Amino acid sequence: MFMVEKANWFSRRYFVKVVAGGIAALSLPPGYLFLTQHLPAQVQTKPACAEAAVSCGTHQWALLIDQTKCVGCNECTWACKATNDFPSDSITWNVVYTERVTVGGAKEEVYLPRPCMQCENPPCVAACPVGATYKRASDGIVVIDYEKCIGCRYCMAACPYGARYFNWTTPTGKNWAVPQFGEPEVPRRPRGVVEKCTFCYQRLDSGLAKGLTPGVDPEATPACVDICPAGARFFGDIASGKVSSPKFGDRDVSTFINSATQLKSELNTKPRVYYITPGESQQ
Ligand code: SF4
Ligand code: SF4
Repeated sequence: MFMVEKANWFSRRYFVKVVAGGIAALSLPPGYLFLTQHLPAQVQTKPACAEAAVSCGTHQWALLIDQTKCVGCNECTWACKATNDFPSDSITWNVVYTERVTVGGAKEEVYLPRPCMQCENPPCVAACPVGATYKRASDGIVVIDYEKCIGCRYCMAACPYGARYFNWTTPTGKNWAVPQFGEPEVPRRPRGVVEKCTFCYQRLDSGLAKGLTPGVDPEATPACVDICPAGARFFGDIASGKVSSPKFGDRDVSTFINSATQLKSELNTKPRVYYITPGESQQ
């Protein structure tokens, strides 16, 4: 029996956060949000665009994170840091939290990596007053136009996952993760804007233009998936029926889609990040 230790105060906190968020600059305590609010699986198998007047685009990118394989090494975090070039450690697009869970009556430590969930119904998009945060028409990836961003941080207040970060200063100096964990592929963001995980869309776009397959070809795959040494991360177009890791092969969507966990799914954000928790191992 797998049971996540959690507090039951999420809904109230989230309500307060969103209401207050319009006027408050939000800084979420690292780890706390996730370690206390990892909720049971309510997987939505149909994309939101199948139900509403929202375009799915050509691809429906999804990330599968297998907590039964994750060893908490943080290489995904460092690869993300190098590839997307954030020199300050106060900005971390991918975080690996440590959870204390009960499995079969025994307490264990498991790891919970948290990128942006790439929500199909993203509250951050709805909250942005200037349209700087938006979903790409081609694939639904939630991105930020840094030239439009006015730094109001409404999106940070609206995001239930704490996935957004604000540049309080101009990012300068050496990025210690370069070159050990990769080379920068995108420009640093300026002071005064919000940033977050992008599913490494620069790799998806350039890879697809070359006829490569994200998840299969490393050059076209998010850096966190490429580097993971434990086979804990898989990526792909969920509509294709599989997600993949260049090093660890394919996982059939049918093997996890009905049992995987989506964080805070009761909010109807419809995350595109799926988790296999220790009680849900399929392979
Ligand atoms: Fe877990 Fe893989 Fe990230 Fe290491 S690289 S923390 S094993 S997901
Ligand atoms: Fe927006 Fe947060 Fe969802 Fe990412 S996880 S799409 S930042 S609401």
